[in-house]
Formats: sequence, structure tokens, C-alpha cells
Amino acid sequence: MPQQLLKNIFGTDFSEYQGDQEGFLARFLAHKFSLANLYAVFDYIAGLEHPFPHPFDKTKEIIIPGCAIIGDRKAADAAVFLAHTHGNEPVGLSAFLLALALSGAGLLKGKIYAVIGNIEAARRYWEVFRDNPEAPVYKRSFFRTVSASDEPDEAKDLNRLPPKWSELAVNNLQEFYDKILDSEHYIIRRALKILTLALRPEVKLFFDVHSSRQSPDGLRIINVSQTQMKMLEEGKFGHILKGVPEDLRIFPAGLLETLGIEEPQITVKMLVEIARGENIIPIIGIECGHHENLQDTMPRSAWFANALLYNLGLSEVMPKNYEKDAGEFYKYHVIGRKGIGYLSGQIVSGDVIYPVKPLAEEKPPYYASGQIIAWKLGKAELIDIGREPDVKKLEEVGKTVQEIYSVYQFKEMEKMQKGQVAMIGVPSGNKFTMPEDAILLFPTKSSALYGKKPGMWPVVVDSVKNPANAKFSYVIKDVEKIILK
Ligand SMILES: [Zn+2]
Repeated sequence: MPQQLLKNIFGTDFSEYQGDQEGFLARFLAHKFSLANLYAVFDYIAGLEHPFPHPFDKTKEIIIPGCAIIGDRKAADAAVFLAHTHGNEPVGLSAFLLALALSGAGLLKGKIYAVIGNIEAARRYWEVFRDNPEAPVYKRSFFRTVSASDEPDEAKDLNRLPPKWSELAVNNLQEFYDKILDSEHYIIRRALKILTLALRPEVKLFFDVHSSRQSPDGLRIINVSQTQMKMLEEGKFGHILKGVPEDLRIFPAGLLETLGIEEPQITVKMLVEIARGENIIPIIGIECGHHENLQDTMPRSAWFANALLYNLGLSEVMPKNYEKDAGEFYKYHVIGRKGIGYLSGQIVSGDVIYPVKPLAEEKPPYYASGQIIAWKLGKAELIDIGREPDVKKLEEVGKTVQEIYSVYQFKEMEKMQKGQVAMIGVPSGNKFTMPEDAILLFPTKSSALYGKKPGMWPVVVDSVKNPANAKFSYVIKDVEKIILK
């Protein structure tokens, strides 16, 4: 079955690459990956299930659907690959595909537990693709989480698990299992099944692949906890990251913990870390680009996955440029979630506050609304110029005003300079400027683009209890170059 799947996707029998590491890598990376390829991988793995022993009760089995065991089942070493933690992020399936191809070529040592995270959300995502492969991305992107209305918010997303669990997991893992195995909430049971794999003694790595919505390049960061970061820097995990792609080497240090403070929640990765306790292993997540820009993300995520496996002795395929890798990475220190009050500026009643960029610097496609803010007779005015930029209209406006800003959707990671105008209040015209040089991470998003939620712009001053706290962005202040060995 996997051989046929690989043949259908690559048109190649990978058994021909037995002992040919270089040839294998070239063949794998030369493929023009498509959504249809990933759908085939999903369809295959979603249809499998395996029983695993209950970690505390030998009379019981935990059956895990949506899980493949790739490689030698009796192997002493294993890794867990997690894909589709979010339903609309299919790119993690490329790591599964890499493992299948390695195994097909006899170049995989050990075994991979390839598990689909939010399998229900992913199923819905793929159903939209199957019904209409030509549909634009946003038609599928609703299925990030399972959104059944009868589920509480804490039971929708594998990365927003209630923190009370982590307390229970720390205090009494066995009781934790007893309480959660028959939870009425699908996502909570799913988290426990993923944890069941991650707790297995042969597991030496937990790897979780994500993507993001910023088109076309997406965000490219490595997500690890502070504990993991320390282990990496102190060399405890050796050179686990040696040979990963050069353009995926940023750690947003402290992000997971900051997210956890602002909105009490834990990610499935943190749950694994807590539950493994002393038996800690590398637990690594990546954001590897835009959700569906697969020519960009698939080779990157597969390469990243292979480097991890190679460093663990689980893959025989040496990553490209491995021997030349000096181990340079970057720590972007996240100083926390900042409200509008972080910016220098005056919040006044009656204003509606928009994120902006001088029009001269930022033209579409980063328009969120097709609107600009212009000054006329000392007052700021919001002017609709339409999503398609109408140059004539802009020129006309330009003749009558002193300054024009574009109402702007910041990128998911954007560099800002001290004094730069980041937001403007309308009609007061009050400007909100950056108090320092910094990098924004996950800045506030447009309610028009992404649906209405707190922290989304525009911020209507009089409708928010404490407008200074209305989310502006996570902020990164210091960038530190580190060497991992
Ligand atoms: Zn995600």
C-alpha cells in the first residue's frame, strides 16, 4: 500500500534508491508537490489505526486512528511526527511522505509514528478540496479547528488545551489518563491519544509541523519551550538541529510561555513535555511557510524532518550542506503581548483606531480594506478607494491633503522602527508611534478579513473597556545570534 502510494505520487519506485542517499534526496526534492499528493497521504493514514498499550493499565489498549507506523515495527528507536494540529495546515503530511519514501528506499532506521492531529477538522478541510480542487484557499481555511457549536472553546484546538490538565498531568499522570480517556470532548481524547504515542519509551523526538496564513511566504520559525531552548543551548540535545534549512532558523524565544500567560491554555507540545517529565526528549514545532504554497513549504519541511532524523541516527540521508553547517540560529526575544498603550500616542473618546503605513511605502496587496486615511482641513478622514487600487482617485485625493496613510494589515512578523507611525485614530488624527525599534509578531488582525474577535482592528475606542489594552501585537525586542552545537 505505501509503495503504491509513493508510486502514484512520484512515479518512482523508491526501492531503486537502496543505498543511494544522494540520489534519493535529489529525487524526493525534485518532485513538484501538490495538494492532491498530500490528500493521498492524508487519505491513506486517516484510514489506518493501531492499538497501543495503556501506559498505566496493562489490561487496556488505546486505539489510535489516523496513525501510521512507518519503518521497522520492532525498532528500538522511534520519532513521533504530528501533522494537521490545525485542520487547514496540510504541510506536515510532507514529513510523513518523507518517512514513507525513506522507508521505501531502505534508508529509514527505526520507526516513525506518523499521527494526524485534529483529524476531524482535517477531514472537513480535505472534503472541501475533494469536492472542488479549484476552490480558493479561504474556502478550506475555515476548518482550522472543529467548530461544532456545542463544544466549549477549550475543546476545539489541540494548541489551546485547558491549563488545569497540565496541573493534573504534573501531579498524577495516571489519574489524568483515567479522567480524560472517556472525555465527552473529541479534541481532549485526541490529545490523550497523541500523548500516548509521545510517552512511549522508544520515542526520541516529537515533531509538530505548522504553516501560517500570510501569503505568499508565511512565517518561518522554530517553536520550542524555554526548557527545550535551554537544552538546545546547553548542548543536551547535541546537534539535533544540525543541517536544517538555512531559512528556518529563528526561535521566537518565550512565545509559548507568553501565549500561555495571556490566554490560559497549553499546546499539545507542552502537554507532552510536562507528561514526559524527567524523560525529556526534543519537542520541536515549526511554522514553515504559507498554508498552501507547497512548492515552497514541502521541500523545507521534509528537509527539516530529515535533518532531525539524521541527527538521531534514524535516517541515512545526510542533509544538504550538512558538513558546512556552523550551527547559526537566531533568538528573537518576545517581550510579551502589547496593547495600543504600548505605542506613543493619545487615545481619545470618539476615535476609531486603524493600523497604517505611509501610502508611499505600502501599496496593495497588503490593503485589508481598500481604505486610506487622509488629512483634510486638520482632520483625519477614512476614504474608501476600493480593493483594486484606483491610481486616479489616489492622485485626486493627493492634491487636497497633506498626508496619506494606507489602512494596513501588518505581516505576521514585521520589522518596525522607533518613531514609525503604526496606528492612527479617526477622526482625531492622533498618531500612535513605535516607542522603540522592534519586530512585531502576530500583530492585530482585521475584523473585516478574519471575522470579529477581541483584539482585531479597527479598535472602536468607546466600545472597548480598556482601549490601551486592546491587542496591538506581540513584540520582539532583541535579536540574538546563537550557535548550537
Ligand atoms: Zn498551526
